Amino acid sequence: MKIIIIGAGPAGLTAGASLVEKGHQVIILEKDDNYVGGISRTVKYKGFRFDIGGHRFFSKSAEITDWWHNRLPNDFIKVRRLSRIYYRGKFFDYPLKAFNALFNLGIWTSFLCVLSYLKVKLRPIPEERSFQDWVSNRFGKKLFSIFFKTYTEKVWGRPCDQISADWAAQRIKGLSLVSAVQHALFPQKTKKGEVVKTLIEEFQYPRLGPGMMWEKTRDDILASERRVEMGTAVKKIEHDGMRVIAVETEDGRRWEGDSFIVSMPLQETVRALAPAVPPEALAAASRLEYRDFLTVALMVRRENVFPDNWIYIHDPGVKLGRIQNFNNWSRALTPEAGVTCLGLEYFCFEGDEMWNASDEMLIDLGKRELRQLGLVSTADEIFDGCVVRMPKAYPVYGPNYADDVALIQRELEKLSNLQVIGRNGMHRYNNMDHSMMTALLAARNVEGARFDLWQVNTDAEYHEEKQIRTHK
Ligand SMILES: Cc1cc2nc3c(=O)[nH]c(=O)nc-3n(C[C@H](O)[C@H](O)[C@H](O)COP(=O)(O)OP(=O)(O)OC[C@H]3O[C@@H](n4cnc5c(N)ncnc54)[C@H](O)[C@@H]3O)c2cc1C
Repeated sequence: MKIIIIGAGPAGLTAGASLVEKGHQVIILEKDDNYVGGISRTVKYKGFRFDIGGHRFFSKSAEITDWWHNRLPNDFIKVRRLSRIYYRGKFFDYPLKAFNALFNLGIWTSFLCVLSYLKVKLRPIPEERSFQDWVSNRFGKKLFSIFFKTYTEKVWGRPCDQISADWAAQRIKGLSLVSAVQHALFPQKTKKGEVVKTLIEEFQYPRLGPGMMWEKTRDDILASERRVEMGTAVKKIEHDGMRVIAVETEDGRRWEGDSFIVSMPLQETVRALAPAVPPEALAAASRLEYRDFLTVALMVRRENVFPDNWIYIHDPGVKLGRIQNFNNWSRALTPEAGVTCLGLEYFCFEGDEMWNASDEMLIDLGKRELRQLGLVSTADEIFDGCVVRMPKAYPVYGPNYADDVALIQRELEKLSNLQVIGRNGMHRYNNMDHSMMTALLAARNVEGARFDLWQVNTDAEYHEEKQIRTHK
């Protein structure tokens, strides 16, 4: 069979590699001129390598973990996680450690936190509609305002009462104040012996960053004489109401296939369909929102700037949301001893003031904020920098996104040989493992299986395929 795959991110490449192994003819069309790996790429700059964010390789699925290790059998390193929260001039351990939090907050604020926790336990918010409700019900309003509010608002660019409770439920489910404290005191004894996802203390990482995984996957596909076409953005998906016939790329080429697996953003997929889908589906697609992201990478002439892999910056006094120290992910990401690459993460909307600021202005902002936080002593320590903008880094879970996605899903299901996969492809806050799982199942569907990819969710452990319902 001839399968056209759109996007060479983790999802597209995983689907591609899986279908190549089964002997199919595969063509992957990728918009980016140079990088594979999508959001999980590793950027290369003058001998330095850095991620978009920082990509931990962690999965509850043995299938995914094996897939990673089979692809890169000798290149995984085990990284001990150290991350802290910077808030009002103090560093809090994260995951929270009871005594450290108590010490930093002081007795009075800690007392208020306990009081507000007890209050919400006695009188919880009856209907958890927003992120604010969800977290407050579990942590109390005081802890919510200290540890969740400012950072979450930086990430999403909107007040916490306008962020869906689904986000919290999916992202930090299993993490209650009780389990956080329990974990702080008895780290081995997590609930039912499971690792609570946000509390992972150690993770796997490819020596040269996640891009190494995706470049290897691309190379394996190319070695099997299949195609990965770079700089090839899909703009039109031609269909006859029942099946997709071909896709058209911006360079005017047309790609026919028997089956189409699409990881480009769901909004763009709907808009690309020709003939156009009904106005309700187009309207639903237009309502889907995204949060964009930029990294200011700064090169510092110092070996140990701070010990963390990353620091969350909850402090409202700076625009910075999080800082990665890539030296502490893997020493191999830095070209020489005595230097460090820091990734300063700014959350923004494509086209806003931050996004449109010149690279020079952003590098200056980064240098200023690093000094303001006391992480470097003089601007002279920073000898180079660059900026990477990543549009659509986060699919937003706005108040009605689930209904909109469901409506689009029903529309797309009319096209029997089209499958959407991955993170933006399904408008799901998926990590690499879930993005890959949708891809593996899509590849099986091409061969006649009937997995419902929408059942793969970030809570599902999917150790066994049986856990995922099949169509009808
Ligand atoms: C800051 C940050 C940190 C993260 N940290 C982690 C982590 O620690 N661990 C983890 O597992 N996951 C992490 N993730 C999530 C991870 O990045 C994603 O789950 C993963 O990259 C999704 O893979 P994908 O293939 O679905 O999508 P993407 O990575 O978005 O790839 C989609 C690809 O499609 C291409 N494309 C788009 N439109 C078109 C078009 N019209 N035509 C052709 N090609 C197109 C894009 O260029 C891209 O290459 C993080 C994400 C962010 C934003």
